[in-house]
Amino acid sequence: MASIPQGQRPELLGRVETGKDAVTGVFAIANEEAVISTSEDKTVKVWVKRDNGQYWPSIIQSFEASCSALEYGPDSDGHFAFIGLSNGQIHEFHLSTDLNRFEKKRVYQSHSSRVTSIKVVPKHNWILSAGRDKRFQWSCTRTGRDLGSHDALAWCLAVEYDETSKYGFVADYSGVITVLRLTESGFASVTTLKGHTSSVWALAYDSERRILFSGGFDQTIVVWDIGSQKGTAYELTGHNGKIRSLAYSTITRKLISTSEDGMLGVWDMDAEREETTEWGGSNVCEKCNVPFFWNVKGMWDNKTIGVRQHHCRKCGRAICASCSDQLSTYPRMGFEKPVRMCQDCHSSLTTDDRSPMASFINMKSIVTSLHLVHTLGHMVTASEDKQIKIWDVNPMMMNH
Ligand SMILES: [Zn+2]
Ligand SMILES: [Zn+2]
Repeated sequence: MASIPQGQRPELLGRVETGKDAVTGVFAIANEEAVISTSEDKTVKVWVKRDNGQYWPSIIQSFEASCSALEYGPDSDGHFAFIGLSNGQIHEFHLSTDLNRFEKKRVYQSHSSRVTSIKVVPKHNWILSAGRDKRFQWSCTRTGRDLGSHDALAWCLAVEYDETSKYGFVADYSGVITVLRLTESGFASVTTLKGHTSSVWALAYDSERRILFSGGFDQTIVVWDIGSQKGTAYELTGHNGKIRSLAYSTITRKLISTSEDGMLGVWDMDAEREETTEWGGSNVCEKCNVPFFWNVKGMWDNKTIGVRQHHCRKCGRAICASCSDQLSTYPRMGFEKPVRMCQDCHSSLTTDDRSPMASFINMKSIVTSLHLVHTLGHMVTASEDKQIKIWDVNPMMMNH
């Protein structure tokens, strides 16, 4: 794993002590030195930087339940904010340009339990949301009317949207991402994306190239090429902890990821990568022909003890342990941490093949949510040390 070089690391610009309860969502407010955050302490707060450099709340709004999800964006006369609660409601507010008035617009009875993710689609006046009631819901922000819903088999944890195709993406606790084409009166099933072996808590979208990124508790990020319609996908491995948040910048074509080992990764998404190899399903090692342990007939014929099957991550061949005892990174396939390889693949690797396409930094605390402000080159993070931090990430995003 490559480290972000000195001089390109995020520079801390400011911090906010948020109290004892976990922050569940954070956004930097457009064109202002201010942030908006939601907390398990049942409040949403707007923090504004004062002349002394400290951030103080200009707004504190309380609710009857924990605030579990936040969506924010600028609009024609200020800012919109949608706050999801642990009781399933979503409250829509309007924040004035001077950040001093927070006006309630509407309450959506979207879910019957904790709201986990909200996505606003201003173009269609839609709000999409996911909840622990296993429901993916979309509603009209002009009329407040429910437009449709889809019931998954597990807690729904994250939503994303593609404007071109009107695809809604919902990731769930089982690791499946369901793709639906949304309409004003329901949906059409498109497909399910199955690439993770455990829960998917984070999604991000490249609306320009139409690429979906999903981050899982299996420590893996999967890159899904939605735009090509070919069903291609590849994985990015480098984190040694569950993936907690993702953010993508279309300007710099960098993907930011954070994980439960406290690391933040920056992935160069302009780099050419190869698709993940299909794994072979052979009964014998495809190199030395030793049978694997479930191949009873093979064991009998060869009178050897069956061995466990491994796979070369580069060529995909089913290989026994002694033929695949080599480990190497292979960034061209997204492997920024060493993976198992057969001897043939390992000996064919060049220095170029090993040159990293991602770099990492230890954030010292688990970042649970983050937001990139593309215009300023800023990043806001909420982390388990109960702090919101504002960073200058221009050098990190521009260079590699
Ligand atoms: Zn072998
Ligand atoms: Zn190989």
